[in-house]
Amino acid sequence: MSAGPGRVDGAAVALVATTAEVLAHPELGEGLLAPWERRRLAGIRVPGRRDDVLAARLLLRLCASRATGLEPGDVEPAQRCPGCGRDGHGRPYLPDRPGLGVSFSHADGLAAAAAGPGPVGIDVEPLTRRPGPVSVLRRLLPEYEVDAACAEPDPGPALLRLWVRREALFKAGRDDVRLTEWTDRRRAAVVALAGAAEAPVPSLSPGPAPSPSPSPAPPSGR
Ligand SMILES: [Zn+2]
Repeated sequence: MSAGPGRVDGAAVALVATTAEVLAHPELGEGLLAPWERRRLAGIRVPGRRDDVLAARLLLRLCASRATGLEPGDVEPAQRCPGCGRDGHGRPYLPDRPGLGVSFSHADGLAAAAAGPGPVGIDVEPLTRRPGPVSVLRRLLPEYEVDAACAEPDPGPALLRLWVRREALFKAGRDDVRLTEWTDRRRAAVVALAGAAEAPVPSLSPGPAPSPSPSPAPPSGR
């Protein structure tokens, strides 16, 4: 994986990769995971999904490493659930770095992670995924956005973009943050990054940086 801009003060580091790329990365390995993370991995019965979860957790360490200068092995993320308040699942954070937001995401054979100042949320989905049905999306997403997407000649990609944006905002924990969404053609992935107000262009690696398509933040109050 190439370094990208790396440690720019106040900027976020966001990485998207295939699970295979992460697992082949020389700086990363399952040994970096904390015992509680390894216990959670051990409970995942589907090998492909287990690898995706492992890759996302490792990629989070790489992002935080690049944002802080710590070695990936010295990054010690924790998780706390905003729903039930328990540790070990839910929103990731770095107890030692309260000002640095972190987020990770995984989907079939894909992983993404981000680290940056303030609330950060990232979501990755395969380009071919089609969220739905529309009746469900109408309950989860702003109706006018769903209607606009459905008015397009091929609503599928538009609905997917809405979905990853919504997920990234949800993970950031707030709506009034910068939202950037882009397509990584090489990995057939759609990605959204919420937060990291001072980082207009995420540094993506490995591979050439795509052209992000900045999306305006949605109206507040949603
Ligand atoms: Zn919970």
